[in-house]
Amino acid sequence: MIFDTHAHYDDGQFDEDRAELLASMAENGVGIIVNVSASYASCERVTDMVRDYPFLYAAVGVHPDEVGDLNEESFARMKALFTREKVVAVGEIGLDYYWEKESHEIQKKWFIRQLELAGELGLPVVIHSREAAADTMEIMKRYAKGLKGVIHCYSYSREMAKEYVKMGFYIGVGGVVTFKNARKLKETVEEIPLASIVLETDCPYLAPVPYRGKRNHSAYIRYVAEEVARLKGLSCEEVIRQTEKNAKELYGFSAE
Ligand SMILES: [Zn+2]
Repeated sequence: MIFDTHAHYDDGQFDEDRAELLASMAENGVGIIVNVSASYASCERVTDMVRDYPFLYAAVGVHPDEVGDLNEESFARMKALFTREKVVAVGEIGLDYYWEKESHEIQKKWFIRQLELAGELGLPVVIHSREAAADTMEIMKRYAKGLKGVIHCYSYSREMAKEYVKMGFYIGVGGVVTFKNARKLKETVEEIPLASIVLETDCPYLAPVPYRGKRNHSAYIRYVAEEVARLKGLSCEEVIRQTEKNAKELYGFSAE
């Protein structure tokens, strides 16, 4: 079954047909979805949502664009959400120097605090990093030692991907890999072992070809799996099977 390691079903773009769409996942071959919070407000929403859907799990954390909402008080409230059921990771957290909504110093401070929280809780991390390759690597080397995690929507060089793989992290691959101009990501997928790749949507964003630009959802991961299979000379089923195994290992479902 398809394991979507990164989705945002609490997003307003799903308000009209969320229940219907999620109800259709199993028949479309989707087994498990991790719904990842981005803003501080969504942390509570994702932990509420998992109660309604047995195949849905939550990651709680604040995205670098949104860390302006964090202070000691809100951080403590967020931390309390980890006592709820089906919270399997800290994320998404990281650095975003593309939008630069918050200063680099503030972003780094809360990135590190949330990595330390993951260490404390013994949970994996979901990393968002955009145009911040060097600083992200530096912080990961210092503060993410011994943690499991995924570099979601990976967008850097294949050399750096290999370094993350060596450190034991997974590389998150989504719709972008199907884009014609995604040469760098295609090369990365060719080069790193399938055992280090997990599939993701980042839905409602980043729908794969032939739905590029439209609203994305987890069943479209099939197109991502097909492209990964083509690049690696494997069958689509083999890619789905192995990446599901990887995702279960990442989020600690292996014993089930
Ligand atoms: Zn995301």
